[in-house]
Amino acid sequence: MSVEEQLIEIAKQGKLLTHKCTSCGYLHLSTAYYCLKCGSKGFEDVILEGIGAIATYTIITVAPAGFEKYTPYAFVVLKLDNSDLRISGFMAGIATPADLPVGTRAKITGFDERGIIIEKQ
Ligand SMILES: [Zn+2]
Repeated sequence: MSVEEQLIEIAKQGKLLTHKCTSCGYLHLSTAYYCLKCGSKGFEDVILEGIGAIATYTIITVAPAGFEKYTPYAFVVLKLDNSDLRISGFMAGIATPADLPVGTRAKITGFDERGIIIEKQ
């Protein structure tokens, strides 16, 4: 399985695959050759619970081609609990800011053509 396939399988379980620097502990979302923080080359996979709070988002009312059927939706940034990591994903059914106050608890629930799927908890 490629790293991308692993990420997808793990997202479908509601979790997030990250790459932790074995030297300084910094977490990377994507594979890197060198740690972005300390430059070390050693990494280990760490799987985090995909649960956190909405940090920010953009409501999409005019979707790109192929995504019209999903509108309205929001492209959200989820700050994970117990980590400084922020991941972006897709949340369905968000039409106005009243639908999604910043800080709303949310979690990863899957992965498909839209990318990482995030739902309110
Ligand atoms: Zn490091």
